Amino acid sequence: MQKSYDVIVIGAGTAGSYFAKLMAEQGYSVLVVEKSSREKLGRRLDIFHLDRDRLPRFGIPAPAPGDDDYVSEFEYSISKSAFDQYPKRTLYPFLVLRLPQFLARLARWAESFGVEYAFETEFLDFIYEGGRICGAQLKQGEETVQVFSRLVADASGIVSVGRRKLPEDYGVETFEIGPRDKFYVILRYARLKHPEVDRVKCTVNWPYYKTWIGPQHDKDGAIIGVGANFSYEYAEEVFQKFIKQVKLPPHELQYIQKGTTPYRRPPYSFVADGFVVLGDAACLTKPYSGEGITSAWELCAIAAQEFGAAMKEGRYPEAARVWKTNVRYQRGQGAKFAYIMATLVGAVNTLPEENDYQFRTGIVFNEKDMTTMNRNFGVTLGLGDIMAMVFKIVAGVLTRNITLATVKALLRSVTAAGKIQKHYEKFPEEISAFKAWCREADKLWAAAGSMADVAKS
Ligand SMILES: Cc1cc2nc3c(=O)[nH]c(=O)nc-3n(C[C@H](O)[C@H](O)[C@H](O)COP(=O)(O)OP(=O)(O)OC[C@H]3O[C@@H](n4cnc5c(N)ncnc54)[C@H](O)[C@@H]3O)c2cc1C
Repeated sequence: MQKSYDVIVIGAGTAGSYFAKLMAEQGYSVLVVEKSSREKLGRRLDIFHLDRDRLPRFGIPAPAPGDDDYVSEFEYSISKSAFDQYPKRTLYPFLVLRLPQFLARLARWAESFGVEYAFETEFLDFIYEGGRICGAQLKQGEETVQVFSRLVADASGIVSVGRRKLPEDYGVETFEIGPRDKFYVILRYARLKHPEVDRVKCTVNWPYYKTWIGPQHDKDGAIIGVGANFSYEYAEEVFQKFIKQVKLPPHELQYIQKGTTPYRRPPYSFVADGFVVLGDAACLTKPYSGEGITSAWELCAIAAQEFGAAMKEGRYPEAARVWKTNVRYQRGQGAKFAYIMATLVGAVNTLPEENDYQFRTGIVFNEKDMTTMNRNFGVTLGLGDIMAMVFKIVAGVLTRNITLATVKALLRSVTAAGKIQKHYEKFPEEISAFKAWCREADKLWAAAGSMADVAKS
């Protein structure tokens, strides 16, 4: 480890290694500090699913059969109603991969561009010069060392160690991602008793309970997952409700893995003087699934371009010079995710009977919209689609399949979401207009409410 680099990245997860590679590729010296050992990296999760069709967008070589991280792939997923009825297919392919092996592949890839890794090295705090970040204090074994840099990127995951250490007025929010703002995910790895009839080839999910069953590395096995706000205990309660209603294939439990994933709006700004926040530390998970890997790469790619350009000829990346990172992200994927997040507050707040009706009639849950949502993070409805949806909702109310309260909640959230999306699409070009933009955004989010507010109702 040298005494100074152009860039220090905290965390060798999917966001950190990808951003490190992008900066090294532009000729910058990059150090990734990772508190885990190289051998233990990513051991928290055996299997994950990665959107196959998004890999070319980020230039990431896709794992293929025969690679140590590759398990399998599937072309579509299935969603079912609260009463396990009306299966709908989402035509969107996923790779099933092993996380530790995939992270090792990303690290080797980044190293081939000159990125240096310091494993078993912990970020403790920033170093400042004239009030601006100019490096990091790191802990290696018993030793504390100072390493200087022009940029520190926080990709430390949900713990957000860098972002949370910033001074309150540094320019990026320092909130903790607490129990209301994250999903507690429990994964049961199970062996099927009759794999020849019950083999799990793709993911089947039940949005009403936020539960799913998907393939794992043992082809005669499955992963049965649940995610919920507040706590693992609450996620377990939801799971018990689910298995009362839905009959899973007979299986034996192998082992359980647990983890948390952010579920809240990201910070309004991702950048400050000599600083950027990425990945789970920036709450970049997809609002409708909690998957966070490819959605985080979107910001990594934008930030690498903007910081890469701003740091040329030894220049320091002041917030104003890299502000376009915020403008480009928030007006694009940020605005779409904000719309989905606000809409879901009303959309998930239904009775099981209403959810069943929605699946039966294709309100919200229909194959075309679900496929488009996965591909584009948004659905554009034509006049004909809107009329058909209104007709189904009115019919649902008249036949008492949907309550008026549910329709009102849905309308309220769609209206709030539309306003939030428009506001994000007008994210200010100039840093000077940012405070006023934030005040308005705060009001709009308060009006939209949060998933945690409706989770237990
Ligand atoms: C159970 C579960 C299943 C999931 N399944 C999927 C899935 O199938 N597909 C998908 O896309 N997403 C999935 N996600 C979400 C996904 O795992 C995250 O969005 C993604 O891993 C975040 O990547 P990251 O690089 O931001 O953070 P992380 O992967 O958390 O990496 C952060 C790294 O920073 C290191 N670190 C932390 N503190 C310090 C410190 N002080 N100093 C140095 N290093 C530090 C950590 O050790 C870690 O290696 C799942 C999440 C959970 C909980």
